[in-house]
Amino acid sequence: MNQYEIIAKKIQEADAILVGASNGFSISEGLHIFADNQKFENLFGDFKKTYGIRNILEGMYTRFPSEEVKWTFISRLANHYSGNYTGSENTNALKKIIGNKPYFMVTSNGENHFELAGFQPDCIYEIEGSWKEMQCAKPCHKELYPAFAAIKKMSEVERNGRIPTELVPKCPKCGGPMQIHGAGEGFIPDEVAHNRFQEFIQKYHGRNMVILELGIGWRNQLIKAPFMRWAAEEPNVTYVAVNKGEIYLPDEIKAKSFGLDGDMEKILKEIADKM
Ligand SMILES: [Zn+2]
Repeated sequence: MNQYEIIAKKIQEADAILVGASNGFSISEGLHIFADNQKFENLFGDFKKTYGIRNILEGMYTRFPSEEVKWTFISRLANHYSGNYTGSENTNALKKIIGNKPYFMVTSNGENHFELAGFQPDCIYEIEGSWKEMQCAKPCHKELYPAFAAIKKMSEVERNGRIPTELVPKCPKCGGPMQIHGAGEGFIPDEVAHNRFQEFIQKYHGRNMVILELGIGWRNQLIKAPFMRWAAEEPNVTYVAVNKGEIYLPDEIKAKSFGLDGDMEKILKEIADKM
């Protein structure tokens, strides 16, 4: 059996699949938040020229001169990458890999792609926030509010890098500015999703489990480090790391790990084809 066949067999034998995804997954789908590339130029050339931002991440943390400009940036961004998104080669392959098994997904990507591709919202934890929601910027309270409908409207009517003032979202409690969930300071963690993740981990303690680590940097402390610690403690876990040039698997889990270095789309398809 080759590596992919062994991994496919482990997945078939598993009681559940745990997926962790970060920037490498988004990049593979064409969204690169650190890149000053042609795509950034095409979408945000005007912002680059006017405000000096060099990539999406900078834009998300820049203090723009007004709420109208801030929401133009966010709505254009979120609408472009999430407004019409229904899935990708990656999410199609993941669906085939997961099949009907119980699963949970933890991601630091905010574009809500797993949910938009059809995975269950209850099985997804967007650990650094999600463009589908907004929060009070202060924040004066901890509630998260739906954002996609407002974003669609804003992105449709923006003119010359501004949305009309009447479309600027306001906090329903304090009347102050709102921000997209996961940008700026005062981030409100999604406690409900966090608790669902903990329940999943407890439920499958000691059972057969495959962890798929997709495009997560080797030093990542938010998802990769806890996943690897957990894999080290669990006797029946198989750990599969997919990354381009950044495979890191510590000695404690080497015997039960697979490091797949290369193009994510191809690797996920290879696994999916063996299912
Ligand atoms: Zn408020």
